[in-house]
Amino acid sequence: MEKKKDIIEVLHEKDLPTLLEEYDKLKDFNSQNIKCKFCDRTITLENVYGLYLNKDTLDLFCNKDLCYNKSLLIKEEDQDF
Ligand SMILES: [Zn+2]
Repeated sequence: MEKKKDIIEVLHEKDLPTLLEEYDKLKDFNSQNIKCKFCDRTITLENVYGLYLNKDTLDLFCNKDLCYNKSLLIKEEDQDF
């Protein structure tokens, strides 16, 4: 069965633009209009840490400890489904 939500950690810089393009967010990313899901910091290739893929949405989060820890919590919740 296909998982509803997937998390990819530690992105390769090469893969990110491809993914962003698939979700029609590459333009926003390049013009620095993508914000961290947790702390609202602008996401760049320098501070991006990971992402969430939902059915139609893609959320990025940054490399702050706080955001990383939050992503772990969500991951644990996710496994209960
Ligand atoms: Zn953040």
